[in-house]
Amino acid sequence: MSFTVAIDGPAAAGKGTISKAVAAHFGFAHLDTGLLYRAVGQRMLMGEEPIAAACALVAGDLEHPDLRTAEAAQAASKVAVIPEVRSALLDFQRAFARRLGGAVLDGRDIGTVICPEAEVKLYVTASDRARAGRRHKELVERGRHISFETVLAELQERDARDQARATAPLKPADDAVLLDTSDLSIDQAVERAVAVIGVRATRA
Ligand code: C5P
Repeated sequence: MSFTVAIDGPAAAGKGTISKAVAAHFGFAHLDTGLLYRAVGQRMLMGEEPIAAACALVAGDLEHPDLRTAEAAQAASKVAVIPEVRSALLDFQRAFARRLGGAVLDGRDIGTVICPEAEVKLYVTASDRARAGRRHKELVERGRHISFETVLAELQERDARDQARATAPLKPADDAVLLDTSDLSIDQAVERAVAVIGVRATRA
């Protein structure tokens, strides 16, 4: 039986951490869909045309060592505006969502476009400053010298692009459960997500 959990929200809201933890908790497979856009963005940075890059994407692209950089994030949000790039990535995401045994997908349009029929939809968010603080800490720990203000500005620029695009903009699905992680620890946020999913899973 398939069971899809769609987790959407803006950058650095905690989607990735929550998704991995709930996937492990329920024994579901997990797909970080942002990696697909980052991989296309990375190919664009290497000189490829984005639509051709999206059509030619292979599993190995998701292993590229630079996908977590701020440059790849900005490139991802630029290629993500192109409808043909999004449609080239659609079938893979939908097939993943419907695999047997359950799947968690995190991204921006999972509950609205990729899996409008998902059994559970969560919209994970947090204040701009909380999100920028987390991302800044992560980058500094990886050895990057970057100011909090730069991280905040980049994050806001990326959110604005994701929210304003015509195709599959970032927004909560009408039936999504909102989870604001601004004042929650990781454990508390995961606990709430597990509780929401658990209730639906027992009904399915
Ligand atoms: O989630 P992550 O920060 O890795 O995503 C990078 C970028 O990829 C986002 O800013 C967004 O532009 C794009 N994206 C998207 N749709 C998704 C996942 C990511 O447009 N489902």
